[in-house]
Amino acid sequence: ASAVEVAQAHLDRIAEVEPKVHAFLHVDPDAVLAQARAVDGRRAAGEPLGPLAGVPIAHKDVFTTADMPTTAGSKILEGWRPPYDATVTRRLREAGLVILGKTNLDEFAMGSSTENSAYGPTHNPWDLTRIPGGSSGGASASVAAYEAPLSTGTDTGGSIRQPAAVTGIVGMKPTYGGSSRYGLIAFASSLDTPGPFARNVLDAALLHEAFSGHDPMDSTSIAQPVPPVVEAARQASVDGLRVGVVKEFGGDGYQPGVLARFQEAVDLLESLGAKVVEVSCPSFTYALPAYYLIAPSECSSNLARFDAMRYGLRVGDDGTRSAEEVMALTRAAGFGPEVKRRIMLGTYALSSGYYDAYYGSAQKVRTLISRDFDAAFHQVDVLVSPTTPTTAFPIGERADDPMAMYLADLCTIPSNLAGNAAISVPCGRADEDGLPVGLQIMAPVLGDDRCYRVGAAVEK
Ligand code: GLN
Repeated sequence: ASAVEVAQAHLDRIAEVEPKVHAFLHVDPDAVLAQARAVDGRRAAGEPLGPLAGVPIAHKDVFTTADMPTTAGSKILEGWRPPYDATVTRRLREAGLVILGKTNLDEFAMGSSTENSAYGPTHNPWDLTRIPGGSSGGASASVAAYEAPLSTGTDTGGSIRQPAAVTGIVGMKPTYGGSSRYGLIAFASSLDTPGPFARNVLDAALLHEAFSGHDPMDSTSIAQPVPPVVEAARQASVDGLRVGVVKEFGGDGYQPGVLARFQEAVDLLESLGAKVVEVSCPSFTYALPAYYLIAPSECSSNLARFDAMRYGLRVGDDGTRSAEEVMALTRAAGFGPEVKRRIMLGTYALSSGYYDAYYGSAQKVRTLISRDFDAAFHQVDVLVSPTTPTTAFPIGERADDPMAMYLADLCTIPSNLAGNAAISVPCGRADEDGLPVGLQIMAPVLGDDRCYRVGAAVEK
């Protein structure tokens, strides 16, 4: 099929299910078809194109796009047109991917349900009364609902892996610095990592390869080749591999159907020739509290740039008010409750006199978590756990309970704090509710290929 035919088929599907799912914040069908025509033209002209040329993709609305609005799910950026493309955006275009539109997310990627979007929630395609995960919930829902075969996401504390798990698709958080943050609207800069969503492991690997790799525009980008992720996904074998089950993840607070599917995945790994052992990572228990100091601290600093002067919304600028008053009015009107909560937490944790007690302690925990991973990866090639303690919860259930919401990322956060690679692959459905369950596979820094190799061997 031509790129135009494929794009049109996906636009039709979007028109059909979008009223129920609400995965997208922006779709411009004419612009989509124009991109597809350009790709067909490049092919007709004999240009050598990669494996994803002409494939449609849904793009998380936290990456800048020069030809589309970019809101980060916030009112404060409503109507803003970025002057440039993010590196990830640029590489999608170069690979000939056809960008279908921008997907919904929790405001500034803060959340686990996409309910924190200023533009309304996204619904889980498997049960429209449930959340699609977050913050990349539009990205996961668009792929699960067959509106797009691929999508981009960002993972700061689990925002790719958790939405992938609860919508039954594949989501990968590359090694920190393996994919570029240039043009990604910053949440917590030492954690933010762009990554792919797809309906199978090989497709995710192809997308991973297409947009990651060194970028001189990102100061923390790793100047090394992308690990051989596509080859690993094709290899799909675990024979002789050592797999560690993280002792600290499981038991109380985990849904029985999640634990049952996880145990089956572990048994499958063993039957395929992996050597499975239990591994203890004692500091992982402190990852969640450390993350909720570090991420808000960085966010409070990053979000200072929304000062009503530079971007988007400006409230109360009628000639009678000072710049400070306009800034305060704009930030009060433009940021949602979760963003404000995080700015307050972060500015408090960073204030003088409290720095050592909070931020300093959290950084020490971060080091301990990296050491746990180092010790574990001396014993095993990969670590596994459930991706999330529960399946998708009902929309509204945790909206007023931040602590319950934060628990969704219990198992994913350690890999953000340590910066290593981790993937979620589907491993069946929970007996209680018939909803998808995810298996998380964690690998060392720059061991991204191991996630794909093991994921492809066991994906359901
Ligand atoms: N749910 C976590 C948070 O709210 C992680 C978000 C993310 O990875 N962007 O911070």
